[in-house]
Amino acid sequence: METTVILLKPDCLARKVVGEVIRRFESAGFGIRGAKMMAMNPEMLREHYAHLVGEPFYPLLEAFMMSSPVIVLALAGDGAIERARMLVGPTDSRKAAAGTIRGDMGTDNRRNILHASDSPESAAAEMARFFRPDELFGG
Ligand code: UDP
Ligand code: MG
Repeated sequence: METTVILLKPDCLARKVVGEVIRRFESAGFGIRGAKMMAMNPEMLREHYAHLVGEPFYPLLEAFMMSSPVIVLALAGDGAIERARMLVGPTDSRKAAAGTIRGDMGTDNRRNILHASDSPESAAAEMARFFRPDELFGG
């Protein structure tokens, strides 16, 4: 069993598709190990999006991610990290296939509904970044 970290972004909450997104993960067999609502701050975002801090679009990404609270999930399953990325679809929602979460619910390459860990290393770092040990169950 592997655990992946999902962030339901402000557009997910604004569009009221939180339940639909969680339903898709549950239908695919994922189990919930942790869940909480939290407000992002610039320091946390600079860590989480360290690979993007120098990009011209970074200020827009930061403003978007702080435009409302997000919901952080730790989801467990066999091959959870790669399988979650498959369910989510590519970064640009406009290029994401129908049937993927971004393809069905996202807007563009910023407002794309959710984040999913992209490797075992980032999943471990994100679990430590967003959850205290006592906020994670099972696993
Ligand atoms: N992003 C953006 N503009 C871009 C590319 C990415 O605003 O041109 C945002 C988008 O919300 C994306 C996040 O930055 O999900 C992280 O980018 P990454 O390349 O890591 O994509 P992901 O792993 O989320 O598919
Ligand atoms: Mg990424």
